[in-house]
Amino acid sequence: MIEIPARKGKAARVRRGQRVKVINSKGQQVVDTWAFNAEDLGEFMSMEHSRIAIGHIIPAVGDALVTNRRRPILTLVEDTSGGIHDTLFAACDRWRYELLGCTEYHDNCTDNLWAALGELGVAPQETPAPLNLFMNIPVIDGNRVEIRPPVSTPGSHVTLRAEMDCILAFSACPQDMVPINGLAMRPTEAQFELLD
Ligand SMILES: [Zn+2]
Repeated sequence: MIEIPARKGKAARVRRGQRVKVINSKGQQVVDTWAFNAEDLGEFMSMEHSRIAIGHIIPAVGDALVTNRRRPILTLVEDTSGGIHDTLFAACDRWRYELLGCTEYHDNCTDNLWAALGELGVAPQETPAPLNLFMNIPVIDGNRVEIRPPVSTPGSHVTLRAEMDCILAFSACPQDMVPINGLAMRPTEAQFELLD
C-alpha cells in the first residue's frame, strides 16, 4: 500500500495489465489522477477524448479511458465508491486559490503532479485535465455544474487496469476553501495499491 499524503501527490510506474486500486481511506477525499504513456509523456489520458470514447461524462465499470491519441490507457474495472467521479474540472492550481482569495502559497494538484513525476525523474509536457476520482460535480438541468461533497465512504475504492505501460500520478486534492473534499473541508490522505 502506497500513501498519497494529504495535500500532496505520488506517482508510480505501472506495467500493461497491472491494476491499481485507489482507496479513499477516509471517504471524502478527491484524488486527481493522471496517466502518461511511459515511453512518451506527450501521450496521456485525456478527459475530452475519453468522454466521446465512452459516451458519457462519468466513467463506469468497463469503460476504457483513452489518450490524446485515442488509445485505451486505463480501464475502470471495479468501483465500490458509489460511481461518482468528475471529468469536467481542471486540476486546481495556484491561480485557482488566488481567485478564491488566497494570498499565500496554497498546495495544489498541478504542482503535486509535477513534483510527483519529478520524484520519478520525469516531467510532463503540460498538465492534462485529470480524472477526478470521487469528485462530485453534478450537471444540473443538463448545463449548470455544482460542487458537492463526495458520496464515497471510508475505505471505498476504484480499480483501474493499465492498457499500456504507463506512469500514473495521483494528488490528494488540497482544496480546503470549497466543499469538494467534504463539508468539513479537511483534505486527508488516500492510498493506492499495485496489483498484478
Ligand atoms: Zn486539487
